[in-house]
Amino acid sequence: MELYDKYEQTMKNSPHVVILDAGASVSAISCDDENPINTPLLNGFLKKIWLSDSISDIGLKTANNTLEDIYTQLAARNEYAEIRNELDETIRKYFASFTIPDKVTTYDLLILSLRKKDLLATFDWDPLLLQAHQRVSKITDDIPDLAFLHGNVVAECCPNHKYGGLIESACSECNKPFTKHILFYPGKQKEDYADPFTFDHYKVLKNYLQKAYLISIFACDVTKSDVEGLEFIDVRPDAAWKKYVHPYHYRAYSGFFNSCLAKHPRRTTEAFFDRTENCIYSDPATPFSETMDFTELKTLVGKLVLEEKRHRESYLTVA
Ligand SMILES: [Zn+2]
Repeated sequence: MELYDKYEQTMKNSPHVVILDAGASVSAISCDDENPINTPLLNGFLKKIWLSDSISDIGLKTANNTLEDIYTQLAARNEYAEIRNELDETIRKYFASFTIPDKVTTYDLLILSLRKKDLLATFDWDPLLLQAHQRVSKITDDIPDLAFLHGNVVAECCPNHKYGGLIESACSECNKPFTKHILFYPGKQKEDYADPFTFDHYKVLKNYLQKAYLISIFACDVTKSDVEGLEFIDVRPDAAWKKYVHPYHYRAYSGFFNSCLAKHPRRTTEAFFDRTENCIYSDPATPFSETMDFTELKTLVGKLVLEEKRHRESYLTVA
């Protein structure tokens, strides 16, 4: 293989990392009448559950009633330990009750737009991404792993071994039932990352970021990064990420369907390399659309997976 071919193969087979900010579930899962999902953003969270009464009972004075603000105050004093635990239990129960709608959601498309070489990380606690991951794994198992950077309400882990899974399952090493991991709240102290579950998931993200060729971020702040290409699905004029990223190393899009993930599903690194290194500016041949159902999705992804298998030893070209 020529040197350039080796370079092209390496870059195209490098990971695409997608990071979802807290609240991404709200954008990804639209409510419908049959299966309404009330996915509150953190700031509206307390008004939607009984806890606001508990907070006023203890006379907590909060500046803006955000979960971050309230949790920071609760964490600061030991006398609030009980209500802090109550908050934690309420959150776990509330979010664990979410069920993904039967129709295709942006989460299904997002997972299928990536491959095993890629990573999908989220700050949300709810189980919707996990539920989408389980059902699209029946279409193909060549999908990315998930990283839950603030924990997940339906996941548990073994405190002694590096295994985790759904509630009520057991560690494959010691066979003991998994135990609860600490949910990470905005405003919590950094030492909470000593929790093995979230710490491991952060380590996974860090490893992927070190070798990533492309990063997409759904509406969130970002710290400085050395990666080759960045894509932001957030075009607010005051978006916080703008001050951290070199102006020639990113593109910003409004909405999933305008991103490279929907335009070039499972071919994002290939399309990026072909556009920037090979000067191939082709129209997307196999885009995802908003109206796709699971049958159409299965047919399209099935074709893409077959093509991937044929090129397993080399690389794909998006033409
Ligand atoms: Zn174990």
